[in-house]
Amino acid sequence: MGKPTPITIPTEPIGSIPRPVDLIARVANGDSEANLAPLYEDAIRDTIQRFEDTGSPVVTDGEQRKYHNFATYCVHGLPNTAPDGFTIPFSDGHTRRMSRLTRGPFRYTRYADSYLDVAMRYAHVPVKQAVISPSALSLMYPAEKIRDYSREQFIDDLLSEHETEIRRCLKKGAHKVQVDFTEGRLAVKIDPSGQLLNSFIDLNNLALSRFSPDERRRIGVHTCPGNDFDSTHSADVDYAELLPSLFELKAGNFYIALSTEPDRGHVLKIIRKYLKPDQRVFVGAIAPSNPHLETPEEVRDRVLEASEYISIEQLGSTDDCGFSPFSDNTSTTRDTAFAKIEARVVGTALAEKLIGGYQ
Ligand SMILES: [Zn+2]
Repeated sequence: MGKPTPITIPTEPIGSIPRPVDLIARVANGDSEANLAPLYEDAIRDTIQRFEDTGSPVVTDGEQRKYHNFATYCVHGLPNTAPDGFTIPFSDGHTRRMSRLTRGPFRYTRYADSYLDVAMRYAHVPVKQAVISPSALSLMYPAEKIRDYSREQFIDDLLSEHETEIRRCLKKGAHKVQVDFTEGRLAVKIDPSGQLLNSFIDLNNLALSRFSPDERRRIGVHTCPGNDFDSTHSADVDYAELLPSLFELKAGNFYIALSTEPDRGHVLKIIRKYLKPDQRVFVGAIAPSNPHLETPEEVRDRVLEASEYISIEQLGSTDDCGFSPFSDNTSTTRDTAFAKIEARVVGTALAEKLIGGYQ
């Protein structure tokens, strides 16, 4: 009998953590940027400390300063926009609305590496950074077109800004750069023919093709059915309609919401069939939208279940989604978010020991 070989199952968060309630209230009251700055700084410092206290081997800044949300932080305050853009409908009836581009050129107002600068000052472990996908931002270009600024020019500018953002994050040492692609599953709901999804995949691949295989090993893609006020936008879309296309994306890592799927075996079979040899899948083992606090044993069992379908060299664990992708979401407390993250970290370690032959 040989000695058991220690194995590693990487575990990573998605990104967002609920902001402190006093910060949310001060933002809602329209407090000045100068007054808010120290509160943001405190929120980031506290988030990273509490993240590290969970034992999480990789942390984020909790997107404390991604005002107002995961999708539009990089164009927030852009003068050539109007508020009446694409609307995301959620299952409980509420909506979120993006801004609409009114004229060219399209430019980011900030790149996500500015968040990394702050996070890495406080962190003692690797920090990952989430960025928004080109496909999500492509929804800002209006259907009726903009005079003197064609859709082709817009796409060129968009891809260039997105590439710049990822390169800046990689250069600053982000453990991973995760491209948030929550609109992938939504695309199938909006257009069941699959054409919109295919156009999103093509656009995102134009961006990913600009990176080397080495760089793509540090780039990932997150998919989920949406998460806002404990509500989803596309949970009724079968993953069978999304995942075969998703794994066509030229990324090395995939972060897939899984724990709330009614039939995880069905999803895992699809992942097994379409996951490529140079890709790793991080399966969601925690449900941010569910108030139930998962136990480490539940997480362990979900990771073990996934390992029956996916080889251990290609497996990791994650949360189904960020805990508050929109900055004003108070449906989950910070205490609950960190307790759930700790359960993921401990539960994944339990699975690791079992699979590695340790008891
Ligand atoms: Zn998500």
